[in-house]
Amino acid sequence: MTAPLMPAPFPSYRQRYLPGLTLNQIKALPDKAWAPVIVATGAIEQHGPHLPVAVDSLMGQVWSERIAAHLSPATPCYFAPPITIGKSNEHVGFPGTLIISKDTLRRQLIVIARQLHQWGFGQLSILNTHGGNTDVLIYTLHEIEAELGLATGFLRADVDYGLPEKERSLGMHANTAETAWLQAIAPQYVDMSLAVSEYPDPAAASGQLRPEAAPATFAWVTADVSRSGIMGDAPAGTAERGHHWLEITARSYAQKITASPPPAKRRSKPRPGLGRHDPWTRRRSAGSLRHEWIA
Ligand SMILES: [Zn+2]
Repeated sequence: MTAPLMPAPFPSYRQRYLPGLTLNQIKALPDKAWAPVIVATGAIEQHGPHLPVAVDSLMGQVWSERIAAHLSPATPCYFAPPITIGKSNEHVGFPGTLIISKDTLRRQLIVIARQLHQWGFGQLSILNTHGGNTDVLIYTLHEIEAELGLATGFLRADVDYGLPEKERSLGMHANTAETAWLQAIAPQYVDMSLAVSEYPDPAAASGQLRPEAAPATFAWVTADVSRSGIMGDAPAGTAERGHHWLEITARSYAQKITASPPPAKRRSKPRPGLGRHDPWTRRRSAGSLRHEWIA
């Protein structure tokens, strides 16, 4: 007799996943003051006709799972519940896109940071899988550092996928890499018969001013630059490439975590206005954010 199919209640890295721990386990964690807590920030948005709309938020979970598998048990690192809906207003008008405002994203992150701080954590690291979130995250992390005294930063992988220049500069969405990752992890959710190669107008690729990854960028919405919703060479994203890229990227993320020193070692000087990061300073500065609950 086959056992009934039960969904796994927690990810395989449960011992690092804060929602999978009890209150006493969280209270007793010995390394909270400097172990990074990773918050994945993603999006639910159209990813062309061939990929599911959950790609970005799904990838946050995939990276978390694979990073945890690469970490030595001696390396302290925890995972907060992810923020799965992002600031995706550039995809407005395409079915399947959910959008939160910049203010909602900022407030969610501040609320999570404040609770982590109150539980005794000292470092917050963002694993962002959606470009539309980036600007908001940058200024919100500055705010969290200044107000709460938490050390904050982005977890970024240092990898070279060997992609052609056009894909690197204009393959912004539902592109070769995203298609390859999904082909590797969930081929049953990918319809390659609908995958096309479509780039924004080549005129947008010239000079210093481009939609993304350029010295100067301009604001755009997907409907202006893509008919299919794809920006990139989706058919080039094979499962074989996906498996390789998943492996080298997860390894790079894990190496960054392993190599990052505790905040105390990174910061020797007190910052103006905050003093040293003693518990009193933290508690006082936390007060200024106390009323910013999400409605
Ligand atoms: Zn994406």
